Amino acid sequence: MEGLWVWGMPVKLAVMNSPEPAVPGTRTTQLLSSCRLCPRNCGVNRLAGERGLCGEGAVLRAAMAGLHFGEEPPLRGRGGSGTIFFSGCAMKCPFCQNHQISRGGVGREWSRRNFAALCRALRDAGAENLNLVTPSHWAPLLAEHLREVKAGGVTLPVAWNSSGYEKPSVLEMVADTVDIWLPDLKTLDEDTARRCYGREDYPRHAAGALRFMAARGPVEMDGEGRMLRGLMVRHLVLPGEMASTRNVLKWFADNLRGKAWLSLMTQYTPVSVPGERRPIPGRRLNAREYTAVLDMLEEFGIDDGFVQDLSPKAMGLPDFHDINPFGPSLFRPLPSG
Ligand code: SF4
Repeated sequence: MEGLWVWGMPVKLAVMNSPEPAVPGTRTTQLLSSCRLCPRNCGVNRLAGERGLCGEGAVLRAAMAGLHFGEEPPLRGRGGSGTIFFSGCAMKCPFCQNHQISRGGVGREWSRRNFAALCRALRDAGAENLNLVTPSHWAPLLAEHLREVKAGGVTLPVAWNSSGYEKPSVLEMVADTVDIWLPDLKTLDEDTARRCYGREDYPRHAAGALRFMAARGPVEMDGEGRMLRGLMVRHLVLPGEMASTRNVLKWFADNLRGKAWLSLMTQYTPVSVPGERRPIPGRRLNAREYTAVLDMLEEFGIDDGFVQDLSPKAMGLPDFHDINPFGPSLFRPLPSG
């Protein structure tokens, strides 16, 4: 295990033209016209302006993009991870640190052409990869866009940075364009999933999604320690939920050890989400819990991956209304366009 990282900075990058609607008659429009892209199975017609639980329609929306220097070392490399924060989310975690974009509607529409320009701008700025944050409810659109981006000469590895609450049949749509799978594994306990995340069915869907991702192939690195392909699983340790973390780590050891990397995150910070009434853990992880988690890693023989240090300071939360929400030291602005 390697002592870990500080969360980095997204940067607003604004290149906007009129968005292009999905082309009528394609498989993408069929999928969006009765959306069952995620386990919520809303069945809404996103093309007709209806909104399901992710809150998003038929045109790609993202709030921010930039070079992220707070990701795990194999992702951030020297140039930073070329991170794109998409709007909306099918999960509704009551302590989401990105709630302004995942639940609050912050974001703008991106045409296919401008999405391609964004990817080129990230590459030209030195990004080590394209890191797609919360992409699942855009899967068919991203499959089309990313094929064009790659065919247009942007050959950076593409990372699918998701909640894990996904369907293998939908992941299959993007499998030929995704190189790095970067899902959460929030919990495998139905009770924890219901109490802390509001989704009792999260464990079975996440387990299926991670098995699909692991089957795409092993972790591959280049000679400079940058991740090129494979699966890295992120688990956020929740205060007071040590039994859940233990089950996650045991499952990882039993099913993915030797096939994937683990990224253990200890940064949980209570967040006040507007309109949210569900209870959340009201404190940060303590030293006793942190030590217990390190002991679990040893017990289960997990040593491929990373674990965050237990910082004495609370993590600052991003303000996605701000063009520079975390201060200048943690991001590198992109040139306009
Ligand atoms: S992607 Fe959105 S609209 Fe479609 S099923 Fe999931 S939450 Fe519902």
